[in-house]
Amino acid sequence: MSRYELTRADLARLLEGAPSYRVDQLWEALYGRFEEPGGATGLPRVLRERLAGEPSLAPALELVDESLADGGETVKWLFACSGSARIETVLMHHPRRSTVCVSSQAGCAMGCAFCATGQAGFRRHLGVGEILEQVVRAARAARDRGRRLDHVVVMGMGEPLANYDNVLEALRRVRHDVGIGARRLTVSTVGFVPGIRRLAREPLQLNLAVSLHAANDPLRDRLVPLNRRYPLGQLIEACEEYLEATRRRISLEWALIDGVNDRPADAEELAAIARRLRAHVNLIPLNPTPGFPAPGTPEQGVRAFAERLGSAGVNVTVRRTRGRSIDAACGQLAARASGAARS
Ligand code: SAH
Ligand code: SF4
Repeated sequence: MSRYELTRADLARLLEGAPSYRVDQLWEALYGRFEEPGGATGLPRVLRERLAGEPSLAPALELVDESLADGGETVKWLFACSGSARIETVLMHHPRRSTVCVSSQAGCAMGCAFCATGQAGFRRHLGVGEILEQVVRAARAARDRGRRLDHVVVMGMGEPLANYDNVLEALRRVRHDVGIGARRLTVSTVGFVPGIRRLAREPLQLNLAVSLHAANDPLRDRLVPLNRRYPLGQLIEACEEYLEATRRRISLEWALIDGVNDRPADAEELAAIARRLRAHVNLIPLNPTPGFPAPGTPEQGVRAFAERLGSAGVNVTVRRTRGRSIDAACGQLAARASGAARS
C-alpha cells in the first residue's frame, strides 16, 4: 500500500474516530495540493503526526536519479519502486503547457525490436498508486517552477493497455481529483486490440496514440511482435471502432528507420491507413538502441517522408527531439510524449 493506492474508503478507515470531513480534507491535500500527509493543510497537528507515521501512506516511489536537459525544461526521474523495480518519468515544459510522460509497467513484455524497454523484458505491472504518484510528483515539480502540469501521456515504460485496470483507475483520478481534463490525457499503445476495444466503451474518453511503425504485416511482424497476434487488419478495425465510439482523433506514431520503413512505398501505405482512420501522424527518427543499432532516418529523409504524407492529404507532424543530453532513449520518449500532447 502507498498513499495514492488508497481509496477514499481506505482513508476513512485510517481516520476512524475523526469527523468524516477529515477524509475530504486529506483527499484534497493529496490530490488537489500535492501535500505530504504529515503536512496536510487544515488537519489538526495530532492527526497530521499520526498520518506522518502511517506506513500505508508512505510514498511508493523513491527518487534514484534526476537529470535535466534543455535548460531545465526537460526533467527525467529514475524511481525505485517496491521489489527493486526501476521506472522512468519525464516532465517537459513548453511555452504554453507542461506534460508528464509516465510509465505503466516496470519493463515491457511486448518485445518490440527497436525499443530499449522491450529489450530489457518485463518486470511487473505498476499499481494505481505508482502510476498516480508519477503524475503528482510532476505536478508538484511543475508548480515549484511556477508552472501548471496540464497534460499526461502514458508513453513511458510498458504497454498501458496490458495493465488496463490500474492505468484507467489512475487516469480517472487524474481527471476527477487532480483535475486534468480527459482531452489532455493520452494513452499510447503498441496495438493491443482487446484493450483498444475496451477503451472505446469507457466513459472516460482519452486520446489514443497507436505506435504503428509499419503499414504492412510482414514488416510490422518483424518490428512489433504483437502484430503476429493482432495483425493490421484487426488493429485498424479496432481503431475504427474507437473513432466511431469516441469521435476522438487517433494519432499514429511512426519511428523512421533508415532504409526500413522510410521508403516512398511505406509512406503510401501509411497514408492509406491514416486517411481511412482520419488520423494524425507523428514522425520521429528512430533512436538507435544497443539491441537494434539501425540508424534513424536522416533529417532530409524525414522531411521527404513528411512531404509525401502531406501531399497524400495526411495531417503530419515531425518531432523535435527533447532531452537528448539526458540519454538517448529518454530523449526519444520525451519527444514522442510532447508530440502526443500537442497533436
Ligand atoms: N508501449 C506503448 C507506450 C510506450 S513506448 C507503445 O508502444 O506505444 C512509447 C513510444 O516510444 C512508442 O511509440 C514506441 O514505439 C516509441 N519507441 C520506443 N523505442 C523507440 C526508439 N528506439 N526510437 C523511437 N521511438 C521509440
Ligand atoms: Fe513495450 Fe512500447 Fe517498447 Fe513495444 S515500444 S516494447 S510496447 S514499451
